[in-house]
Amino acid sequence: MTYTIALLRGDGIGPEIVDAACRVLETIGERYDHTFVFKPYLMGGCAIDATGVPLPQETVDGCLAADSVLLGAVGGPKWDSLPGHQRPEKGLLGIRSAMGLYTNIRPARLYPSLAAESPLRADIAAKGIDLVMFRELIGGIYFGKRGRSEDGLTAYDTEEYSVYEIERIAHAAFKAARLRRKKVTSIDKANVLESSRLWRATVAKVAEEYPDVTLENMLVDNAAMQMVKNPSQFDVIVTSNIFGDILSDEASQVTGSIGLLPSASVGDSTRGLYEPIHGSAPDIAGTGKANPIATILSAAMMLRYAFSLETEAKAIEQAVDAVLAEGYRTADILGASTAMPLTCTEMTDRILERIG
Ligand code: NAD
Repeated sequence: MTYTIALLRGDGIGPEIVDAACRVLETIGERYDHTFVFKPYLMGGCAIDATGVPLPQETVDGCLAADSVLLGAVGGPKWDSLPGHQRPEKGLLGIRSAMGLYTNIRPARLYPSLAAESPLRADIAAKGIDLVMFRELIGGIYFGKRGRSEDGLTAYDTEEYSVYEIERIAHAAFKAARLRRKKVTSIDKANVLESSRLWRATVAKVAEEYPDVTLENMLVDNAAMQMVKNPSQFDVIVTSNIFGDILSDEASQVTGSIGLLPSASVGDSTRGLYEPIHGSAPDIAGTGKANPIATILSAAMMLRYAFSLETEAKAIEQAVDAVLAEGYRTADILGASTAMPLTCTEMTDRILERIG
């Protein structure tokens, strides 16, 4: 089978880590008899430099025509002084919206071999973390009405959700829970916000269609606390755009390294946008220090969610597990280890050896 993948390498370490993931996909293609056709497009700072805008129409068209999209990261100090609507990150919001990607899926796992890197207390880390967060991505306060009063002394942003928007992400979360430990924690602020009360009632209604899955509701302030106190309790989390933004960063930190965590943004179709959760790391771009694992695991998520290639996705994940268990480290996850840190290319080589 042939799959066309649009590549948005982006800025900073983006090109290095996307190329690493492409090498892994090529090896998977050879081993399991698939053809991956890679089509690169510009987005972010590199697009601004070449075309004057962060998201050229050609990029939108290319992503919509592809079977899936793999993204590195965008942004960097070179473009920091540009006004908001011209900045590289605008490309990211634009492509998510153009592709109708309303669900952001972020797994967070604490690898036993990296438990010492977690900022959690050892007895809490020992219980492990294996959760996946479903964050609503194109609604809520980030997209609601906003403004300032004429005198500039007051500003407002609006949190607004419809039943339809809540239902579609709740279904995605419950379906995922069925394939995992069958528990959904819905996070809101229903003791204060009307939009959260609608969220809670709607999720409860959706839950009736999944009697085999347990639903738990949690207030966001408690959830932030539970994430460091007892994170092993979480299986699938479903939450709004802003709460998910904050909690998913917290979840990523308790696992120890930002360089390990993948993500997927999906909508109604199987086409999605797959990307590491970290940024373009301009401080290490071009030094070979980038950890490619988050992007390689994002490619694994693409195989699973976009192409239903579960065996192939697992082959990548198991190769990553094996390499980490054997003690191979890039500089960002070196911790107290005395091992020589591997470069981006060397880490990719080790992973390829365990796949091929
Ligand atoms: P960052 O995630 O790029 O970097 C934070 C720290 O983590 C840095 O020290 C960096 O070296 C390290 N790091 C990140 N990824 C790594 C990897 N794969 N391997 C090893 N170390 C890694 O966050 P930042 O510094 O706040 O942002 C830098 C730029 O990235 C900014 O322009 C920001 O807007 C942009 N950004 C883009 C995205 C995206 O494209 N999705 C997300 C976040 C930030």
